[in-house]
Amino acid sequence: MIPDGTSIGVYSAARWFKYYNGMGDRLHVDPYLTGTVTSFSSNAPIGDSAPTGSTYATGVLQQIGNVAIYPEASENDLYPVDASRTWQPAATILEAVKMEKNKSVGLVVTSEFAHATPADFSAHHYKRNQYKAIAPQMAYQNLDVMFGGGNRHITPDIRTHLTRTGTTLIQDNKNELLNYNGNGKVWGLFQEGALPYNIDRNPEKIPSLAEMTNKALEILSKNPNGFFLMVEGSQVDWAAHANDVATIIDEYLAFDEAVGKVMAFAEKDGNTAVVIMSDHGNSGLSIGSRECAGASKLSLEELFGAVSKIKISASGLESILIETKPEAFKTVFKQYTGIDITDEELAMLHSSKNYKESDYTQVGTSENLAHNIVKIMNARSCFGFTSGSHTGEEVLMAAYHPQGDVPRGNMRSIEINQYLQKVSGLESSLEELSDRIFVKHNEVFKGMNCSINRDNPDIPVLMVKKGRNRLEIPAFSSVAKKNGKPFDIGSVVVYIDKNETFYLPVSLADML
Ligand SMILES: [Zn+2]
Repeated sequence: MIPDGTSIGVYSAARWFKYYNGMGDRLHVDPYLTGTVTSFSSNAPIGDSAPTGSTYATGVLQQIGNVAIYPEASENDLYPVDASRTWQPAATILEAVKMEKNKSVGLVVTSEFAHATPADFSAHHYKRNQYKAIAPQMAYQNLDVMFGGGNRHITPDIRTHLTRTGTTLIQDNKNELLNYNGNGKVWGLFQEGALPYNIDRNPEKIPSLAEMTNKALEILSKNPNGFFLMVEGSQVDWAAHANDVATIIDEYLAFDEAVGKVMAFAEKDGNTAVVIMSDHGNSGLSIGSRECAGASKLSLEELFGAVSKIKISASGLESILIETKPEAFKTVFKQYTGIDITDEELAMLHSSKNYKESDYTQVGTSENLAHNIVKIMNARSCFGFTSGSHTGEEVLMAAYHPQGDVPRGNMRSIEINQYLQKVSGLESSLEELSDRIFVKHNEVFKGMNCSINRDNPDIPVLMVKKGRNRLEIPAFSSVAKKNGKPFDIGSVVVYIDKNETFYLPVSLADML
């Protein structure tokens, strides 16, 4: 479980927030905290979601932007990088347990499904936002569960493949998803892109992370061989980028609810290990700030009263204010935040760059409305931020294992992957698997007639001929054709344009 971009200060703020609001003084994660994780890129100490999540998934350090792929070597490498493997896809724990242990596999997120962290476990590319390469790989992984956002990535080809593999695709229908009681694979997607922040979520239409997680556990645990599930609280990170404290806390608590569901399942199941850690810090959130003199004398009410009255994210309030007449700003702002804004603050909101009521006001500054809303909210609190970006301190680690075999102390991100490999009971390493299923096509089909068909520039197709036999192997797919007849490859094929190479199973040579 990964609460994306969650610094240690978020846990502290969420705990006091709960206490102030009469929700107890413990987080679901608290009894399971065992240490910290230092996570980083192959050539930079401050991590980013794509490389750090990829390291949890593969055990391979990677560069910013990389999704489960061996990185380029760089003069800034923190540990030696094997340049002979650059661009080779790195097999993930999800792929290994599916292929080698016949376990079910699932991903539950609140971002769009092809976003960095879920992609880290189920796709391979050097560029995280290359969705045309990533989304099809995730579909062709034949995931048993994929819940989150991202309807915009469902192409006709993906839809056809899901149907062909007996996968139920449920779109924008919460009840249908939560009432699903079949035995097949299920994709449940909401919204075109990401889900709304939990604080802005309409609970009638959009499931919570905890609801989706519970459903995923119910579906995946039907497999007697067991399962692998990755749950991401995707948007703690986004709220931290925005320095939006109320939303950071609410997003974390929504994640913590899902932790509660998972731990209840694991404790009862007695056969499930859990690890929980963020992928990197974000924004340096502190309780107490330079602007707040005498912070150590402030009461719980003074520290957590104002933030508890905020019932919307800054971006949610922005979208409402953009549609609001200037004379109604003060009332609307108070309604959602409990804040009486000053005339000066009102003028600042009206002058926001993206506030378009040009009949009434001039668009004067380079600041957008959401940023100015955050400024107003934070001026009434004593939370501090050092940054609007990722930060390099270690993140908290929590774990559960039925026999108590949990990781402890300060771990490096690679060791989290090693732990996952160990508890999954894998007999061979992920590196060995990579060398079986991600081999360069000119090695696999050495001496045979290979050409690349680029009729569809997004999905090049490798054409291989030997004697009378012909293979057609499309990129980012797990279905190829032999003499025109489709067959399942058993893993996804990755095409890297940088070296014009398809990475595919060495066993495909036996087809010819
Ligand atoms: Zn992240």
